[in-house]
Amino acid sequence: MADHFQHFINGEFVDSVDGSTFEAINPATEVASATVARGLAADVERAVSAAKAAFDGGEWSRAKPSHRRKVLFKVADLIEQRSDEITALQTREMGSPVGHPHDGPHPVIERSAWNFRFFAEEQELAEERAFNRDDNLMTYTMTDAAGVYGLITPWNGPFMLSTWKMAPCLAYGNSAVHKPSELSSLSISVLCEIFNEAGLPEGVYNTVLGFGAEAGIPLVEHRDVVGVSFTGSPGTAMDIAGRCAKQLKRTSFELGGKSATMVFADADLKRAVPTAAAGIFRNSGQVCVAGSRILVQQNIFDEFIEKFTAEAAKYTVGDPLDPSTRLGPLVSKGQYERVTSYLDLAQQEGRVLFGGGRPAGLDTGFFVEPTAVVDVDNSDRICREEIFGPVAVILPFTDADHALAIANDSEYGLAGYVWTGSQHTAHYVAQRFSTGMIWINAGFDRDLRQPFGGMRMSGVGREGAHRSREFFTDERFVSFPITPR
Ligand code: NAD
Repeated sequence: MADHFQHFINGEFVDSVDGSTFEAINPATEVASATVARGLAADVERAVSAAKAAFDGGEWSRAKPSHRRKVLFKVADLIEQRSDEITALQTREMGSPVGHPHDGPHPVIERSAWNFRFFAEEQELAEERAFNRDDNLMTYTMTDAAGVYGLITPWNGPFMLSTWKMAPCLAYGNSAVHKPSELSSLSISVLCEIFNEAGLPEGVYNTVLGFGAEAGIPLVEHRDVVGVSFTGSPGTAMDIAGRCAKQLKRTSFELGGKSATMVFADADLKRAVPTAAAGIFRNSGQVCVAGSRILVQQNIFDEFIEKFTAEAAKYTVGDPLDPSTRLGPLVSKGQYERVTSYLDLAQQEGRVLFGGGRPAGLDTGFFVEPTAVVDVDNSDRICREEIFGPVAVILPFTDADHALAIANDSEYGLAGYVWTGSQHTAHYVAQRFSTGMIWINAGFDRDLRQPFGGMRMSGVGREGAHRSREFFTDERFVSFPITPR
């Protein structure tokens, strides 16, 4: 056991009020790698009151936008400088492979820094509106920081997904109490140190570590928390929505997916196959926008299967600290049991094409082979439920309308991917894909100005540029007659 990780409240690392802790388990070794402060209602109380005092004090909430920009740019620079340290902690907490050495920061860390730079600029450049009605009533809008927000995040992209929420929350002048997942409590400690070094005033950002039931619920229900931004599973979102409804508190939900990748016969398979494989095997399939249902046009089905099988074989499973590893362990014993239960189901509902279990020679750690399942029907559970593991289902389709009927028949509606050589097919499908985000001849890639989010069980609300501004500010107007009346 190497380390102890604490809450970050009012600019200081602190233990729980009652001294409670829990163990962080390294998913590659199944061994406890650290103790973690276990937050309860009393810790949430401390954090929210520090956040409220900071907000009411105005040092950050009423700071000049140019000052906030300066501090957040420094945060971004420091994140990039500490890339190796952050990725090492992420590997230890949730098993993501370190990969081959990079020139410069790890891409995920670069994106985290970009989140801060993007919203630091957005808040400075954002426009207000003014009108003159009937050549007499002058009226202008203002967008102000709204207060203390609860930010609740999952474990699958612990650092980046946290910064995607906290960057807009802080940029617009709010204070935050962040509750990361109990399965990924380590890497966020680096960010807390960075906030202090960059000059973020004490109490503006606070972290309470711990479990949803013990620390998440008191945060959601706290009367001084004006809104909750949540990324995680639909079931948790429903619980949070119910609690927030009782206080008419604003919420934003980024949830799960069962996204479809469509591959048409005229697609460039040299690009489509590796991107489709990365879309489901990257991060061991623990990605909200994973293309977990692969739909392939009937006349290239066999060719695709052959090439996809060869591509999947390149995903070496093993120690995430080994640079040649492409597929690390699943995050936890619970997640391992969940994914393997779907692998059992796959045997009943379809035919396992490759993979389907624990890789040979890896007896310890929560490892699962890259897996593909065929001969399934879109009504099967394995095609409908989010497995959140390296498990693809592959289904044939005849034409664009058939592919759309399968793709859109889902409780989820997060991402959609279409591979085709025809502009007509690409846009015909894009217009009809019932998902929040669509990529043509590409995997997941972002422009942060676009609205990120999904339909149905995939979420409520959108994040990015002015959508985040709307969520993290109060918009008001002031009116006055030009000629007194
Ligand atoms: P989860 O819902 O189990 O937990 C998410 C967070 O909520 C954790 O911090 C947890 O401690 C907390 N929590 C749990 N119960 C709570 C409660 N009652 N009140 C308040 N907080 C509570 O989700 P997870 O297993 O950590 O994450 C995986 C899910 O997240 C998947 O469904 C995945 O698709 C989704 N996800 C979505 C996006 C997106 O942007 N759409 C991104 C990443 C992950």
